[in-house]
Amino acid sequence: MNLESLVRPNIWALEPYSCARDEFKGMDAHVFLDANENPYNDPINRYPDPLQEKLKARLAPLKGVRPSQIFLGNGSDEAIDLVYRIFCNPEKDNVVAMAPTYGMYKVCADINNVEYRSVPLSDDWQLDPKALLEATDARTKVIWICSPNNPTGNDIPREVIHEVLTNFEGIVVVDEAYSDFSTNQPFRSVLDKYPNLIVLNTFSKAWASAAIRLGMAFASEEIIALFNKVKYPYNVNLLTQEKACALLSDLGTIDSWMAQIRREKENVLPALYELPIVLKVYPTDANFVLVRVTDANSIYRYLIEKGIVVRNRSRVQLCENCLRITIGTRQENNELLGALRFYK
Ligand SMILES: *Cc1c(COP(=O)(O)O)cnc(C)c1O
Repeated sequence: MNLESLVRPNIWALEPYSCARDEFKGMDAHVFLDANENPYNDPINRYPDPLQEKLKARLAPLKGVRPSQIFLGNGSDEAIDLVYRIFCNPEKDNVVAMAPTYGMYKVCADINNVEYRSVPLSDDWQLDPKALLEATDARTKVIWICSPNNPTGNDIPREVIHEVLTNFEGIVVVDEAYSDFSTNQPFRSVLDKYPNLIVLNTFSKAWASAAIRLGMAFASEEIIALFNKVKYPYNVNLLTQEKACALLSDLGTIDSWMAQIRREKENVLPALYELPIVLKVYPTDANFVLVRVTDANSIYRYLIEKGIVVRNRSRVQLCENCLRITIGTRQENNELLGALRFYK
């Protein structure tokens, strides 16, 4: 793979903004008069670390990568947008993804004026790697693969993703936002084998921190350097960096929440399956489940009246009459199931 040929020429040539905290870093100084900050209101008067080094040093061993292989952003959504801005020339290049999948890949393509090609999954949500590769051409810069996939919930088999990675010359993004809920080995473990691989993870799901907006991308050092060049200089604020470090000091709590979610999933799936209004419960490797029901719009509105919100996916391609239901606490799940039993 030739990275330069994949990157937009203006980005390859870009001289990035050099901020005060880039030009001087270190603990030796005690008088900081370089960034026009206000000397009062410690500690939030100071600009945060632009490269979040402390947090990356904590994350690297947990994720089995080097700190230089990590990009941190304002949610995974920032990483998704940066992929377009780094690799895709507006009005010229295209990307390929499966359908249905996470909606942000298409929205960011539209915002960046990049053609978005989608390849439908099979009835049981399987991905045909040949069909995906056939949809590419010389102007395809990126392939998006979401596994476990949102909204279908299933893992894309590792062999399928390997086949795409091996046979495509451009960038392959594997979005593993839900991989902590799956038993499959995560793809960041094969970063060193594939220079064209970008893996996305997030603090929003398994790590229970959607509010702090912190997403992760793992890739080669060269690709991460491009992310760092294009991102806003202070894209992750101090409060988020500190909260994330605190969270990583308490992984036991996260493990216990995850175990609880797994237990609940084992209760909720069979209970859904027994409801007469449920036509199909799709297999799931995530913390949500897609169900096909008799009348999604009507059931959705009925639940809203009871104060229960699920995601109505009926207007998504191939997801007619489908609701996407997140696994909640025992009490929340029981409330949902109780309401559904009384629906008529
Ligand atoms: C929820 C989700 C994310 C996470 O997005 P953040 O911006 O990090 O909150 C990423 N990808 C998929 C497929 C998701 O469902």
